[in-house]
Amino acid sequence: MNDSKSLRSRISKVVQDIPRSGIRDFFEIVSSREDVISLGIGEPDFVTPWHIREAASLALDRGVTSYTSNMGLLSLRRGIAQYIQKKTGVEYNPVDEVLVTVGVSEGLDIAIRALIEPGDEVLYHEPSYVSYNPLIRFAYGVPVAIQTKKENGFRLTRQDLEENVTEKSKVLLLNYPNNPTGAALSRKDVEDIAAFAIEHDLIVLTDEIYDELTYDREHFSIISVPGMRERTIYLHGFSKAWAMTGFRMGFTCAPPELTEAMMKIHQYTMLCAPILSQEASIEALKNADADIAYMKAEYKKRRNYIHASFEEMGIPCVRPDGAFYAFADISQFGMTSKEFALRLLDEQNVACVPGTAFGACGEGFIRCSYAAAFDDIKEAMVRVARFIEKL
Ligand code: PLP
Repeated sequence: MNDSKSLRSRISKVVQDIPRSGIRDFFEIVSSREDVISLGIGEPDFVTPWHIREAASLALDRGVTSYTSNMGLLSLRRGIAQYIQKKTGVEYNPVDEVLVTVGVSEGLDIAIRALIEPGDEVLYHEPSYVSYNPLIRFAYGVPVAIQTKKENGFRLTRQDLEENVTEKSKVLLLNYPNNPTGAALSRKDVEDIAAFAIEHDLIVLTDEIYDELTYDREHFSIISVPGMRERTIYLHGFSKAWAMTGFRMGFTCAPPELTEAMMKIHQYTMLCAPILSQEASIEALKNADADIAYMKAEYKKRRNYIHASFEEMGIPCVRPDGAFYAFADISQFGMTSKEFALRLLDEQNVACVPGTAFGACGEGFIRCSYAAAFDDIKEAMVRVARFIEKL
């Protein structure tokens, strides 16, 4: 009775229908092999700055090992509100408008679940971060993927939105600077999208986890546009700019009604974010400006290098404005993205992610993370050049 086929048939249809993340599949192949240079994972090669690690160790030494309030430590929420105010000019009340989550991953999940009823449509742009489509489906929502185009630098335009909005559209999910394309938006782009959201009465979820990492222009958040704070859940976290992936720390900022709705889900599923990570994040907000500036300058060098290398090889690649990914167009080689990535791995020991992991319109592209060490990136580019020469 309990054979594996029968157990599989008991699994919820929604879960059965959702494939594993294409990134994870590649990651597992890579970790089973030696001498592979990985440009696959979107994770800083930097260790978390020492003073942030020390804050966690000292808290542990003091015996700080308890639960916190469901919302998170008030001192951390105050720090978050100050940080956001400084960055965007927008004020949030740390008491009932800031919620500390287990990474932006959890923030996304509870934001979507708090809003979506079965059949509600969520507009989002593709190529996109791998979790958006599954999270919408786990919540019985309908994902409406809007294809962004290389010709527009993968920026979402008002026209793209107009073509996809329907009576059932409830939420617009944005991610700029973008994973996987590296695209960032101008102030005008953001204002146009905001006007659209207001006109169509949409709630906006804005995943700004890469907001610190823009290289050619200042990031402008949609919450700074008048009329948007009221209809937006702002999502951010410490994984990327602070190199704190393993701490699993994120947060949401939103009006009290939406925060309370998300808090209910968070309270029953997570209870609270880990206290040591919260202690570390208090320190991160206070004293890490120089660390962020240093890492960002390094990423910028790597960005310039990887972009120039692809262009020299005759592989078109929109110059990434933000995050730490290059999305290179390999369509000229007559292979699918997956074939290209697998052969590159097999023949040259370089791992990247096929563009299709980020949606069907990623076909013809590969994503290379330049959060890897500079020397690794250099060697990887030599190997890619060798690989395409032989094709
Ligand atoms: N959102 C985007 C766009 C990401 O790229 C990632 C991680 O790669 C996440 C969210 C998840 O981040 P976290 O580590 O905070 O859960």
